[in-house]
Amino acid sequence: MRAQVFHGPGDLRLEEIAMPEPAAGELLVKVEAALTCGTDVKTLRRGHPVMIPRLPTVLGHELAGTVAGVGAGVNGVREGDRVVAANSAPCGRCALCQSGRPNLCEDLLFVNGAYGEYIALPARLVERNVVRIAAGLPAARAAFAEPLACALRGIERGRVESGMTVVVFGHGPLGCLLAMVAAQRKARVLLVGKGGWRLDRIREARLAECLDALAEPDLPAAIRAATGGRAADVTVDATGQPAVWELAIEVTGRGGTVVFFGGCAPGTTVAVDTRRAHYEELTLVGAFHHTPDLIRRAVELLESQSLVPDGLLTHTMGLEGVPRALDMMAHGAALKVLIRPDR
Ligand SMILES: [Zn+2]
Ligand SMILES: [Zn+2]
Repeated sequence: MRAQVFHGPGDLRLEEIAMPEPAAGELLVKVEAALTCGTDVKTLRRGHPVMIPRLPTVLGHELAGTVAGVGAGVNGVREGDRVVAANSAPCGRCALCQSGRPNLCEDLLFVNGAYGEYIALPARLVERNVVRIAAGLPAARAAFAEPLACALRGIERGRVESGMTVVVFGHGPLGCLLAMVAAQRKARVLLVGKGGWRLDRIREARLAECLDALAEPDLPAAIRAATGGRAADVTVDATGQPAVWELAIEVTGRGGTVVFFGGCAPGTTVAVDTRRAHYEELTLVGAFHHTPDLIRRAVELLESQSLVPDGLLTHTMGLEGVPRALDMMAHGAALKVLIRPDR
């Protein structure tokens, strides 16, 4: 079978590799849709010791497909079932798993291999984080389950409720998904991004109300004006820029919550106004990854069409297109690229 194999930073090769055999507890899945993600771009540039501990490995981690082989001992899934697989599985035994925070599992097993014709899903993933999907759900939409579950975690950490004003920073795919989840909760959402074709597209697709950061000489004032003068109830950073984390704190109102969703470069720090943090009871929280429960909720939202992310797919390519797709992502020329290994 063909696959895009990652050999190390900057070294991605389209190769013919042996078809994986599903061992006991495993599932063999024919990948029908894989989606590009900013994490793949970062991984290709500098490697990823946590998500990719062993080399070489097939890249890609957002996928949906059809079960093509069932390992011994797997129950409840049959050949021909359509499934979505998350990119990780918690251990279920460590203290954080036991306390209901499996996204922080001390032994999170990461799985890659979406950019191949087939993938063998390891037993722990099959047990905890593979979900069967309805016949009517297109694979391209189902593959959004993983990033959508991350967005659900961000909005859950912000305790977003109906009627709140939520400001999301970042016009990448996750900024958009965060905005869509908040809107789905009936919050009023303002997405702050940098003007350009992506922001235009987000506006045109009516994914969110947008504010162009480049067009505002005084961005905090513009955000305050756009949120009716009383600042945001919840702000979410999806840029991973320390300066934007600080801006997010600045435009959050009394009693508000700031969600640090975008990961910043290692070693960076931000300043917090101690007076505001104390007297205004600001809640500052991180949001990381997703849980098996949120993967299931993401699938439900997609199946019920409560949230339709199709507008985020800007291009479709075959397996040979992955390097170009990731390059386009790196240069802001694509939101998400749908990779169809069977093309
Ligand atoms: Zn991803
Ligand atoms: Zn654990």
